[in-house]
Amino acid sequence: DFLTFNIAMYLQLAVNTPIYQTFEYKTPQNIVFSDKNLCGCRALVKFGNRKTIGVIVSTSDKQSYSGRGIIREVEEILDDTPVFDMYAVRLLSWASSYYHYPVGEVFYTALPPLLKKQNKAELKPIDLWSAIPGADISSIKRAKTCQSALEIIRKSPCTTHKLKELGISSAIINKLSGLNLIVKTNLRDQVKEWSREQLEVTGTKILNGEQQAAYNTISDASGFNVFVINGVTGSGKTEIYLQLIADKLADGKQALVLVPEINLTPQTVKRFYDRFNVPIVCIHSSMNDSERFESFVMMQRNEAAILIGTRSALFANIPNLGIIIIDEEHDSSYRQGDGFRYHARDCAVMLGYLRNIPVVMGTATPSIETVNNIRKNKYRELILTRRAGNASDAIFNIIDMRKQFIDHGISRELALHINEELAKGNQVLLLLNRRGYSQKLICHNCGYVFMCNNCDSSLTYHRTENQLLCHHCEARYSLPHQCPKCGFTELTPTGNGTEQIFEHLMQLFPNARPVRVDRDSVSGKGTLNTLLDDINDNRYNIIIGTQMLAKGHHFPNVTLVGIVDIDSCLFSNNYRAHELLAQLIVQVAGRSGRGNKQGYVYLQTHSPDHPVLTTLLSGGYQAFTENCLNIRRQLMLPPFTSNAILKADSSSREKVITFISDAYAFMIRESQKFKSVKVMHPSSAYIARKQKRYHFNILINAAGKKDLSDFVDIIIANIDKFRDKSGVHSVIEIDPLSNE
Ligand code: ADP
Ligand code: ZN
Repeated sequence: DFLTFNIAMYLQLAVNTPIYQTFEYKTPQNIVFSDKNLCGCRALVKFGNRKTIGVIVSTSDKQSYSGRGIIREVEEILDDTPVFDMYAVRLLSWASSYYHYPVGEVFYTALPPLLKKQNKAELKPIDLWSAIPGADISSIKRAKTCQSALEIIRKSPCTTHKLKELGISSAIINKLSGLNLIVKTNLRDQVKEWSREQLEVTGTKILNGEQQAAYNTISDASGFNVFVINGVTGSGKTEIYLQLIADKLADGKQALVLVPEINLTPQTVKRFYDRFNVPIVCIHSSMNDSERFESFVMMQRNEAAILIGTRSALFANIPNLGIIIIDEEHDSSYRQGDGFRYHARDCAVMLGYLRNIPVVMGTATPSIETVNNIRKNKYRELILTRRAGNASDAIFNIIDMRKQFIDHGISRELALHINEELAKGNQVLLLLNRRGYSQKLICHNCGYVFMCNNCDSSLTYHRTENQLLCHHCEARYSLPHQCPKCGFTELTPTGNGTEQIFEHLMQLFPNARPVRVDRDSVSGKGTLNTLLDDINDNRYNIIIGTQMLAKGHHFPNVTLVGIVDIDSCLFSNNYRAHELLAQLIVQVAGRSGRGNKQGYVYLQTHSPDHPVLTTLLSGGYQAFTENCLNIRRQLMLPPFTSNAILKADSSSREKVITFISDAYAFMIRESQKFKSVKVMHPSSAYIARKQKRYHFNILINAAGKKDLSDFVDIIIANIDKFRDKSGVHSVIEIDPLSNE
């Protein structure tokens, strides 16, 4: 009506710009908005003289800005329904202040990629594939994958999205459609909200005693609670998630399941599809922008009931969210490594708190922070000690590398055990976290080490490509034939990588069928899945790979796991290295063996008496965490204190050193005002020069989060004084995963 017509609304906008505050704008004249649905919508705005995107975080009919500038009108409101619901708006506002990251950039990071563009987003049609009844299938008689795809579609019509999540490629879909075996319709025309009346749950297992106890504890609690299901792979954690989700779906609620990137395999998703007949969507990095947007919208409109996704799925708009699951809670891929560096696990707990709903984590190797939260009764632990089936625990063995015959990193002892298992028809799995052939290439005459031109890092020799590669900046160099310093032509590869071990194993076991699994041999998710299938089909019997193999996958025929080099993790400057090593060892042991075959884990080390190893082997992961917590407490390390890191880099060494010294002097002075804040000496980063830029850090440690936060506020308010803006880039990271 007339009154509302010309009244402007005042909007606080999180504008995509590196500034730590929101900005006030007003709605355009002559357009009526009801204030209810503006919050969480995107707006196109002029900021300075450029156009950019802002997210409306609050609205008011009164102006709050009292400065002398004018309040601009937004150019356009880009969304009809909010991209972020009020919980997401609160979560992101909290995250901006907790992580001390500019609020507009935080919201921008959380936007689905398609909504980062400066326009309205439209949904593409959703192809729904149905089988054509009575079609002649003789044309795919010998194409196994086509047959199984058709089988799935015959059971019930599938979207392209679902088929892809089940591992069926567009090529297969196109082929079936080309052969007139399947036909597509646009599902968009008919989608409705999912309804609990249609819900069917199939394949529910009868829980064992421990599972039942855990399930009861979680179901009996109401409102916000954090639970940690602590149980090895195969102990039935996922079964509990599924049953908890079933209860929520029956109440008409939606569920969010967070998984580490590597875990989102077709097998994981298939278990959810097999259990529930409701629409399930995914969000992960190998989806394109419109696929992600589709998943996002389906949750937002309550058309899908379950979202399974990696860390960014956390920011989805899920109106009826009833439960949050965080699988493999300890996994470091929950931490965003650049830009807005948040920890998805910790943010998920905050979201659960804001929405007053349960958060259920699962892991076989809880992170030290989580163990500490359990001790402080912030999280409730539920332990599953038994593996489903009758699989027994793996037997751990340390191989003392001292005084042993070692060939290409493999001790004679390990080789003998490998031989035994192969002879029994079993598979063996060897882990080495170094891809390539050799870590270094050294001149045998003068000792010259081939280094990257851009980084302070030696170059890795990759034999398959016959090139030297920098693992820090991806630069490639053709293989040199002589030393640039002395001209000598004998160049020695030192420090073995997966390529070299692979080659060596082929020589040691000429009749074996080895396969290498690392970033070089696996180009995409598709290849990894095929490789994993081939491994489980026993096409290979020696698997050599990087950490890629330690996570998420289960290899029932593997009876021996060898960790080729653990010494590099035992002696590291990062205080979290031992935790990561213990998790790796326990995780990898849990990935192998099933039924009545005994599994063995062999750890090669020159320090067999290292306390981390002795504790882990005699008392298990729990004894390790107790020890680790004691040490962290004595040394005043997180989680007993809080860390932040100031990271600075520049192409000019002088500029970054000047900046870091000035910042350090300032920080030392300011830290006097805080009893518990300690500022460490500046140090160069682990790789001091990376991509032609010099990196320096200052570590800040405080007894409490409040002190840390107040102190960081002061730094941020003053940092520009020290920065020659043209040359130095800096960022502050809260709760960094590493102290270097
Ligand atoms: P986790 O998530 O801890 O690795 P899962 O839930 O995947 O464990 O369980 C491992 C296997 O055991 C799965 O095949 C699952 O279907 C089965 N399983 C789990 N719980 C039960 C149960 N109570 N009864 C029978 N089978 C079960
Ligand atoms: Zn480099």
